[in-house]
Formats: sequence, structure tokens, C-alpha cells
Amino acid sequence: MRFANIGGRLAISTGGGYADVAAASGGQFGPAAMEGLENWSGLRAWADRQDAAALEPYLLEGSGEKGTVDLRIPVPEPRQVFAIGLNYRDHVAESGLTEPSTPPVFTKFPTCLTGPRDSVVLPPGSVDWEVELVVVIGRRGEHVSEGAAWSHVAGVMVGQDLSERQLQLAGPAPQFSLGKSFPGFGPIGPVLVTVDELADPDDLALGCRLEDGDVLQSGRTRDLIFPVPELIARLSAVCPLLPGDLIFTGTPAGVGGGRKPPRFLRPGDVLVSWVEGVGTLRNRMVAAPAAAADQHSVQVLELTHTTH
Ligand code: ZN
Repeated sequence: MRFANIGGRLAISTGGGYADVAAASGGQFGPAAMEGLENWSGLRAWADRQDAAALEPYLLEGSGEKGTVDLRIPVPEPRQVFAIGLNYRDHVAESGLTEPSTPPVFTKFPTCLTGPRDSVVLPPGSVDWEVELVVVIGRRGEHVSEGAAWSHVAGVMVGQDLSERQLQLAGPAPQFSLGKSFPGFGPIGPVLVTVDELADPDDLALGCRLEDGDVLQSGRTRDLIFPVPELIARLSAVCPLLPGDLIFTGTPAGVGGGRKPPRFLRPGDVLVSWVEGVGTLRNRMVAAPAAAADQHSVQVLELTHTTH
């Protein structure tokens, strides 16, 4: 099953289009996307009983007849967003670091999330790409075992862990969470794909490229140092995982900062990111207005200054 957020309303793919879940369920689920996740088992049971072909599609992909499909953030208001650093060996190597014995965890503050086709305003600095598999939690879990981990997952999405490297790496205690949380730094989507849709959820190809350019990253999730079940077990041993929580699982090699010479995102770049069987994000980078750029420069200077 594929769930989307179309124009702020929870929708389910019918194959040829999308049906509005609140309308099709007689108001039982939705209309907001997050409401579907709060009662995920009920929504799944309802969706299992539906005949997709019989659902009334209210928007047809690309038809233009009823307007363009307004695909928004599939999970717009998670309470917790976990992200994992250094989780592919080839990315550890290009970062010049040693393989971690426990997963390095940080957060992307939820205000950074943005839609699968949204533009991203580039702050000053060195903004880098990181394509990742993003896991969406479907039910509350504490001390979840690895064996039960996938049963706690509502589905997966494509994600970009956009990162401003100067702020991320400034000072003796690097600012991972801030450097990766500028507005627009968390494109996710294009839809939430349930785990049963995937032939092997632990082995998915993923990558990103610049539109009309070379492939930048290409990897497989079977190469994760800490696979999804282990991440869920380790995270839920500390923090209860809640419906709608996100886990950015880490990025393979090929980030701009690891290139010689380094290559960072520029206004006009269109970043295309994909996960096999899940979908594609397409995000255009745009320049920041001059006033906002000045303000950020002051903030970075202050953050750097306080570390001395
Ligand atoms: Zn990352």
C-alpha cells in the first residue's frame, strides 16, 4: 500500500490515482495524514478490506484534469526524528573516520521537513546531499527486539539528510542537529510505502543525482553497518518510539564533502533522490534572500565564537 498526503489530506494509491481516505472510509480515518498514523493498525485493516479498483480516484497522476497532484510531506508532524551518522562503511571511509561500534544518533528538528517536490532555500555555507532510507514507526514500542522491529514499522520513504557542513562540524562538539535542520533540509516522500510492498526491506537500492548530471550516490541498504531492526532495538531501548516517528538511517558514499575537490549544492541544482520500489524526490535548490543570508552569517560566527 502507498499512502500520500495530497493537499493536506491522507490519500491511498488506487494504482491509477489516489483516493481520499476520509471520504472513502466515511470519516473513520483522516483527513489529516498524522491521524492515519495514530490509528495505524485500524487504517491498515480498513485498507486491506478495500478493492483498490473500486475506490473513487479523485486525482489522477499527471492528468491535469483536476489540477496538478499536490504531493506534500507524507508524515508532516512527527514527534521524534532520529538520524544515524556513519552507517555505511564506504561513507565512513570517505569521511576519514573509523567505523563506529554504536550508531551515532542525532536529530533533525521536525521544522526542517519538506515535501518531495519542494524547493529548498540554500543558507550560506556548504550544503551537502545525503540520500537515505527513512523508516516511519507505526506503533508505540519500548525495548523492541530485533525480531519484532519491522512489525513496528508503518512503512518507508525516500529522504534527504541535507547538511550544512560548516555549522555541522564547527567547534569541539559538532553541531550535527543544527547543521542538518535548516528549513527545507529534510525532504521526505514521495509517499509512505508499506513494508509488505517491498521484496526485501533489508536490501533496497538507493541513490541520488543532479538532474541532467552524473549519479552522485549509489548504494544498497544491505550494506548498513547497523540495519533497520538493530536501529529500532537500540533506539527503543532508550526512547519509546511513537507512531509517526522517523528514522533517517544513514547515507552511502558519494557526498559532496568527500569529493576532490568538494562539490556542494548551488542555486539552480535539482537534486533527484530515489529508493528502489519506494519512489523519487525532486528538489530544486534556490538562493536565499540577501537579508536572511546576513543573519545566518552572524549566527554561525556567534556559535563558533562561544566554543573558544
Ligand atoms: Zn545522514
